[in-house]
Amino acid sequence: MNTLLLTIDHKNRERTIKIAAEIIRNGGIVAFPTETVYGLGANALNQEAVKKIYHAKGRPSDNPLIIHISDKRDLRAITNNIPEKCQKLMDTFWPGPLTLLFQKSPHVPDIVTGGLSTVAVRIPANDVALELIRKARVPVAAPSANLSGKPSPTRAAHVIEDLKGRADAIIIGEDCEVGLESTVIDTLSEPPILLRPGGISKGQIEKAIGPIVSDRGQDGDIPKSPGMKYTHYAPKAPVIVFKGSIFNMVAEIRKIKNQKEKEGLKVGVLATDETIDQYSGCVLSVGSREKLDSVAGELFHVLRSFDKEDIDIILSESFTSEGMGLAVMNRIVKAAGYHIVDAGGELL
Ligand code: AMP
Ligand code: MG
Repeated sequence: MNTLLLTIDHKNRERTIKIAAEIIRNGGIVAFPTETVYGLGANALNQEAVKKIYHAKGRPSDNPLIIHISDKRDLRAITNNIPEKCQKLMDTFWPGPLTLLFQKSPHVPDIVTGGLSTVAVRIPANDVALELIRKARVPVAAPSANLSGKPSPTRAAHVIEDLKGRADAIIIGEDCEVGLESTVIDTLSEPPILLRPGGISKGQIEKAIGPIVSDRGQDGDIPKSPGMKYTHYAPKAPVIVFKGSIFNMVAEIRKIKNQKEKEGLKVGVLATDETIDQYSGCVLSVGSREKLDSVAGELFHVLRSFDKEDIDIILSESFTSEGMGLAVMNRIVKAAGYHIVDAGGELL
């Protein structure tokens, strides 16, 4: 397939978004920037168009998509019921990196929801995304614009790497501001369930609607959010995460790195600005521990960079689970397939 690469600048913006919107209206699939990660969008009400998304990504058909809208009024085509807590969260956080579950109306094809009776929806906080959805005049189903199993794309270059030749068009816009996928909340359950930590923290949500619980599915039951059971976000090389105090973490990573190198492996270390000087060789920093928001923004890019270096194994530091740290650690631990080494002590 020939993929149209649409570089967007302030001069051609209108025209470019119009071309992309027309492709979506005509049943094609287009990758576009959002504030979380790049999305791969299709008309959510067109079953054949949505099928193309699953095909292009190699995504399992039971992993439902998030529908992106540009206005709360667009919900009318998607659901017949807006629960009170949903309304409160929409009013507080939309547009923004928060996805909410609704009872699905019959207009939404089953393929969008992987056969579930609920549908996930959000309004993105990105001008290009919003304008694209507005001009397409349809709700846009859009998962992350990566090949299934690879880290989500936070830069246009990542999307081109994965989807050139597989999507009808790619809008080449700016790097994603948040850099991790949206928080997913189920307010249809009581208490509401945090299905996926993301750009809006658990604390921010609890401030708006009171206590919420984490998805127990992550501890071995069937996850309520089907996507969470897949080893997402994984680079090619296996990842081991080290937890504990910074001192112990660094010492243990150095020790294991030595061992692995003696075995002839090429080792990558995912470090921070505070610790990068403690290691030699292929070491990449995701930024300062003091700035978890920018760590979130760098994480997927760094994981993808290790792939380019042909690393055999990645040893990763860990982070606090406070605030954005919860989402950051969720992605790192999943990239590691839950392979965690306790180096001892506590991370303060
Ligand atoms: P992605 O757009 O690639 O970030 O993936 C969408 C995420 O939203 C996946 O983790 C899905 O499991 C989750 N999701 C979408 N629809 C639903 C739904 N109806 N119920 C629970 N989780 C959902
Ligand atoms: Mg995804």
